[in-house]
Amino acid sequence: MSRFTSEAHLPGLRQPAPANDGLDAPFWEGTRAHELRVQHCRSCEIHQWGPEWMCHACNSMELDWVTVDPVGQIYSWQRPHHPVHRALSDRGPYIIVLVELPHADNLRMVGNLLGDPLQEIEIGASVSVVFEDHDDGDPDFTLVQWEVTPAS
Ligand SMILES: [Zn+2]
Repeated sequence: MSRFTSEAHLPGLRQPAPANDGLDAPFWEGTRAHELRVQHCRSCEIHQWGPEWMCHACNSMELDWVTVDPVGQIYSWQRPHHPVHRALSDRGPYIIVLVELPHADNLRMVGNLLGDPLQEIEIGASVSVVFEDHDDGDPDFTLVQWEVTPAS
């Protein structure tokens, strides 16, 4: 059995893909390379997520994409028991996390937490990215999943 308990690429759900306007394409290229990329403003040097054409801090249009350490901390979470889509009808419960990246100006990303869907969740717990490759897509794609970082 796959280590992934909540695959996002399910029949009936649209395949995750870059937006047609190209704005988030560097993010998706990064995931294929197993890198977590976010925007970084050349003017005020803040990191931001999600992708925007303009810096939300200083309104500069001078945004680059940078690779950041694919780790964070759980800022908030939710455990849906009722499916939000018919394709997820046998997938509940699952855990949605809001992950904060302290090393990237505390930007926050919404994601799926892997592992036991009934696991205890601790606010502030360290989490790491697991890059979930889908080499059967059109085109192929890689999802960012999160898991609680094992104690070392
Ligand atoms: Zn800025």
